[in-house]
Amino acid sequence: MTASKSAILRAVRWLEEYQEQEYARRGETPTIHEEMLDPNLLQNDFDQDTVNRYNEILRLFPGSKYDSAISRFDLCKILHHIRDKDPRPAKPSIVVGTSPSLVPNACIALRRDVSVIVHNTGFSVFFTFATAALARLIELPNPISSATLDQLSKKRSDLKQDMIGAAAPLMLKAMLIAATGSLSFADSIMGQYFKIPGEKFSISLEELAAISPILDSTNAFIISHEYAHANPGQWEFHTFGPEELQFALRLLGENATSEFDADLTGAQLALHYNAHAGRHGPEYSCLGILLFFDLMRLQRRAIDAIGGVQARNEEEADSITHPPLLNRRTRVADTIKRLHGLPAYTERGFAITETFCVAMEFIWENTRPFLEHLHKSGLAQHLAPECRVGWLTDDLKRLIDLDDNP
Ligand SMILES: [Zn+2]
Repeated sequence: MTASKSAILRAVRWLEEYQEQEYARRGETPTIHEEMLDPNLLQNDFDQDTVNRYNEILRLFPGSKYDSAISRFDLCKILHHIRDKDPRPAKPSIVVGTSPSLVPNACIALRRDVSVIVHNTGFSVFFTFATAALARLIELPNPISSATLDQLSKKRSDLKQDMIGAAAPLMLKAMLIAATGSLSFADSIMGQYFKIPGEKFSISLEELAAISPILDSTNAFIISHEYAHANPGQWEFHTFGPEELQFALRLLGENATSEFDADLTGAQLALHYNAHAGRHGPEYSCLGILLFFDLMRLQRRAIDAIGGVQARNEEEADSITHPPLLNRRTRVADTIKRLHGLPAYTERGFAITETFCVAMEFIWENTRPFLEHLHKSGLAQHLAPECRVGWLTDDLKRLIDLDDNP
């Protein structure tokens, strides 16, 4: 970190206040955690070496008392790597934390000295369940870095179709979490629907271990994208006066033009993160990055089906701040092709991504009738506030409410 200690502490305080507001908005009280992993409390879960490694990285990034050391470590290890590889002479100082919201996946509060990245865990829950659901339909050799193209490319008829009964309900639960923001509410709907307690539609530890490289790759892209927005010296505003709305609109416009740049820089940093020795291999970075866009689009389709929104035009701008997901995906895919190292890595990465897309279409056909039924049963009124129009604008205004006074 290059910023002064007091600037970092101010950023941490800002983050904690932001988190308090986010939890209050959901009617929850955040839990207070220790900043570092305590080896005495962990005992058998981690060996001493792992605890030391975790704490070494955590020490580099002071954080909020509302984030557990383990969840902070997942984000800090990515930041540590990408910050290290950032070629700019003046690297931005970053504080990172989590919030329970669903939308957007992450955001960054740009400040003069220290920027704050907030990773929204609501989306991570959706992503974990949805990825596990897709993986139930796909048989892949392990490790995929040794697989042939043929083994990674699956047609509809190659999927484990007999597993659809285990995959579709899990995806439905993921979609309900994405739409309502509530795991317990999703569980109760699942229970009503299938006459099986909602908690039964869950993921085993083995499944979680198998998909964790994909989840880590997606997080690497999300954090790298936000990091790419942080640019020291670019944002010199530190008061929020009477023209606040005009200022907000200007910032929104500037943000929209920089989204593609953030994607491309983010993709480069995320590719490097995974190609790095000892990590999962470049195929996973390709899958993690592209699956991010595909699952975002699937989530959107599901929320639209529940809300009764007919046939969205995917070529239209995503929001005031973001260009269409489809265009962003195309540009990022081109960047991956350009930068992914050996052609064989790229081909394998795209093959496995395509297989996930085939599984996604299959699962969509099997979940859509349920979503339409839920719409007819009035579920639209239970959509999370984040999924409603106007939310993002409010959120951005809150994010740029800069307070740099000591
Ligand atoms: Zn962005």
